[in-house]
Amino acid sequence: ATPMSIMVATGRGAQAGVLIRDAEALERFAKVDVLVLDKTGTLTEGRPTLTDVVALGDKTEKEVLGYAAALERGSEHPLAEAILKGAGERGAGKLDLADFSAVTGKGVRGRIDETEVALGNTALMQGLGVDISAVKDQLAAFQNSGKTAMLLAADAKLAGIVAVADRIKDTTPAAIRDLHAAGLKIIMATGDSQGTADAVARDLSIDEVRAEVSPEDKADLIAELKAKGYSVAMAGDGVNDAPALAAADVGIAMGTGADVAVESAGVTLLKGDLGGIVRARVLAQATMRNIR
Ligand code: ADP
Ligand code: MG
Repeated sequence: ATPMSIMVATGRGAQAGVLIRDAEALERFAKVDVLVLDKTGTLTEGRPTLTDVVALGDKTEKEVLGYAAALERGSEHPLAEAILKGAGERGAGKLDLADFSAVTGKGVRGRIDETEVALGNTALMQGLGVDISAVKDQLAAFQNSGKTAMLLAADAKLAGIVAVADRIKDTTPAAIRDLHAAGLKIIMATGDSQGTADAVARDLSIDEVRAEVSPEDKADLIAELKAKGYSVAMAGDGVNDAPALAAADVGIAMGTGADVAVESAGVTLLKGDLGGIVRARVLAQATMRNIR
């Protein structure tokens, strides 16, 4: 492709809400055959809302929510925002938390008066020696409906469950259909649980799911696919996607997401609409064939 045709293509891309950094990104885009997608904020809106509160043992629902909110006040995770908003709406009491700490990819911990409290996924509970066998079915039910369920522990005993739901973006189903029609293999990668990830992937007919992965795991997955000879694009919105975006042949950032995601990517979808990937790919291939 000539410099002129590349300028025309990037200009057209920008009009369609897709920013393509340079000629190299455009050229690589034309060859992509596997697309890895982050779940939260990429396939979904990334604005979860509180849907369920389950009280266990001697706790009430308001107490469970009050504990959860106290724990999340120090967190910057989108899940924290959902819990704080829900707790406010449902009139949970405000409790003071001491010794806050965030456990990356697992949850949050702290102390309320003399009680050690923690909120997070099953891995966090396992690490604290909390027996979760009594709620296995309840957890699975939340996950099978695509919700993210978090467990609350007080003094190493299960005290409750809070669940949130995050809507799939209106533009996602059609984009996935078109990308499949274009012959791309589509893989979802998420830090969320296997059950939740499977439920979302099922609704969208995604080919393969990698759940409970860390940011490093996401980057490793990209490297593994490249080693198999695939040309890989990765789309994500978060700080935790930056390593994978940088590792991919083409990194695609949601313009609605974190700045470091945009900085790590060769392509940016201004409105966070995955349909932009379809449009950019058509554009890239047309340009590489020098058709204008
Ligand atoms: P994601 O890719 O979904 O943003 P993370 O790797 O950040 O996932 O976290 C993985 C899981 O750890 C979450 O699905 C959640 O169960 C738990 N978790 C992480 N941070 C928090 C938090 N602040 N509060 C409660 N649970 C959390
Ligand atoms: Mg995300």
